[in-house]
Amino acid sequence: MRIGILGGGQLGRMMGLAGHPLGISCRTLEPGAVCPSSPVAEHHPGDYEDLQALYRFSQGVDAVTYEFENVPVESARWLAERVPVYPSPQALEIAQERVGEKTFFQGLGVKVPPFAAINSRDEFDQAIRKIGLPAVLKTTRFGYDGKGQTVIRDHTEVEPAWQILGGRPLILEGFVPFDRELSILGVRSRTGECVFYPLVENVHRAGILRRSSAPAANISESLLNQAREIARRAMEAMNYVGVLAVELFQTGDQLLVNEMAPRVHNSGHWTIEGSETSQFENHLRAVAGLPLGSTDSRGHSVMLNLIGNWPTPSAILAVPGAHLHLYGKSPRPNRKVGHITIREDNKQELNEKTGQIQKLIDQAED
Ligand code: AMP
Repeated sequence: MRIGILGGGQLGRMMGLAGHPLGISCRTLEPGAVCPSSPVAEHHPGDYEDLQALYRFSQGVDAVTYEFENVPVESARWLAERVPVYPSPQALEIAQERVGEKTFFQGLGVKVPPFAAINSRDEFDQAIRKIGLPAVLKTTRFGYDGKGQTVIRDHTEVEPAWQILGGRPLILEGFVPFDRELSILGVRSRTGECVFYPLVENVHRAGILRRSSAPAANISESLLNQAREIARRAMEAMNYVGVLAVELFQTGDQLLVNEMAPRVHNSGHWTIEGSETSQFENHLRAVAGLPLGSTDSRGHSVMLNLIGNWPTPSAILAVPGAHLHLYGKSPRPNRKVGHITIREDNKQELNEKTGQIQKLIDQAED
């Protein structure tokens, strides 16, 4: 069995690694000659819009998936005429544009932050009046890791925000004074079976995910059910196959959807050690038409992202329960170069080890 992956970053690398024991080999397509997935997958360098490259990439693969959601939808559609593509190009299309994405969730009866679409300066002024301040101004497309967005706290920040982002299709969202950020990962098989990982608590710094704790603490049955229902409705509405990540804001006992990712997700990296079946394996199982694996957790996990640089591996590996994942990238500010998962049965020990490793990470980043 061979699965084609559009994109060749760390998510493709971890999918490639998960495929080997199952007898699934992965082939990746992305423009770079060498990329994080190349040591573990058959890498095809090529542009996503180059039909000859897409054709060669599609020859001999049983199905195609993505590890990167900014692949042109037209390319995914072109491939879908020749080979099964999971999740469907429709899911990619919805996830690529914030206005359509929020409208999609609203249509499912799911709460999202108040928002307004902006295509001109007039619409920007109207949106400020409608949504009020504080608010978050975002580009509707190609935003990731906090890029392409700015918070407008008061009226003195309105004009500067327009100077930074104006001239492109934008969305203004009401600033949500959330208690915390959570995410839920659902997996849907080709036959419509759905499984869910537990809710994960996520901490961001400067728009970049820094830490995921799983399972999230103090989750009531009703909150978990709400989150599962959101993911289930979204997956069913799109006839989805694979892992879907939904990022959520918790305010009291309510969940609002921030956005979704039609792929494996950074907040699910802990599942490699912390779950009976990792998100990468379950995504491949779904795409390959295999039965899904158990999403039961093994104790408690904390995942810490390595941003820009990483500590000496021997210092991390000296901590029992700590697992290092480097992505084969060179150090560069604000770049996700790896992650560490600490898995523990005892929560107090987990907190102590997390503190210890966080110190090593802070030193490496300085
Ligand atoms: P995004 O690219 O939309 O996931 O935004 C990156 C991060 O910015 C989120 O994880 C939140 O921490 C923050 N953020 C985004 N939108 C809002 C909002 N409407 N209200 C409050 N914080 C937000």
